[in-house]
Amino acid sequence: HAKEKGRNNYQFFDVRMNEHAQSQLSMANKLRIALNRNVIHPHYQLKVDIRTGKPIGLEALARWNDENGKPVSPAKFIPIAEEHGLIARVGSSILQQVCVQIRMWQDMNFEFGSVAFNLSAQQFRDPNLLSDIREAIEDNKIDPKHLEVEVTENTMMDDVEDAIQILSNLKDMGLKISIDDFGTGYSSLSYLKRFPVDTLKIDRSFINELTLDSDDAAIVSAIVSMAQKLGVSIVAEGVENIEQSQYLKEIGCYHVQGYLYAKPCAGGELPLVWEHVIREFAE
Ligand code: C2E
Ligand code: MG
Ligand code: MG
Ligand code: MG
Repeated sequence: HAKEKGRNNYQFFDVRMNEHAQSQLSMANKLRIALNRNVIHPHYQLKVDIRTGKPIGLEALARWNDENGKPVSPAKFIPIAEEHGLIARVGSSILQQVCVQIRMWQDMNFEFGSVAFNLSAQQFRDPNLLSDIREAIEDNKIDPKHLEVEVTENTMMDDVEDAIQILSNLKDMGLKISIDDFGTGYSSLSYLKRFPVDTLKIDRSFINELTLDSDDAAIVSAIVSMAQKLGVSIVAEGVENIEQSQYLKEIGCYHVQGYLYAKPCAGGELPLVWEHVIREFAE
């Protein structure tokens, strides 16, 4: 009996594995088509200074609607792009569009601060990264101070010496550096002072229940005071309600990003959303 059951389980597992592999492959193919058609675009989400209620900058987030017009989450398609050798194309398409957008905003005298873009582990280690960024900057004649990269702790910890070199090169080019999803990875605090980073972005998972869970509150306070002592700025991700924002203000975390202020939107809409946030939140 046990043997039979075991075998059935095995077959079930096998079928499921197969289905999973199939759907991954089918998504990779759709992604390839999407890249050929240039239908992956950045949206932009504001970061706000809660002391003044004014926006201070933006994060670019990749958006893709499948052939039925249904949005596919980047949390899904970015890992697939990595596994199927497509991440460099996704990355350069986003970077290109971000730089064109920055050029347009500069020309309109729209002061957006900076635009951060996300780099996955493979993009970060790509030997062409620096020259691609340099080229995008030069082609669009933008000021590199308007650009920022977001990299996770784990990406950096893969090879620390190498990471420090890449980050230093990016800084030398004039870009700012953020550590994304901070607190969820395995970076050791001793490395933090060696990485030339400007900003820590506290992961949304600690902000979710910030005002309900005393452990999360303790973790966030500790990150904020450590950052202050290291002279690194802080952004809290995923702020959805006024209680969270109030609490963050009390502990000295003034820069936030989240649905409370604005959801990511298309570049064309962004200046209006920016104005809207100022009207709603600035005192
Ligand atoms: P991330 O870089 O940590 O981006 C923040 C995510 O939190 C975004 O999800 C954003 O829409 C979401 N978010 C912002 N405020 C709130 C909030 O108040 N509540 C909730 N529930 N969510 C909020 P999104 O756009 O789905 O992106 C997911 C992840 O995919 C990103 O996490 C990033 O790791 C990756 N990603 C997105 N775009 C790119 C890209 O162009 N390149 C690469 N390599 N990765 C990207
Ligand atoms: Mg990010
Ligand atoms: Mg994040
Ligand atoms: Mg994330």
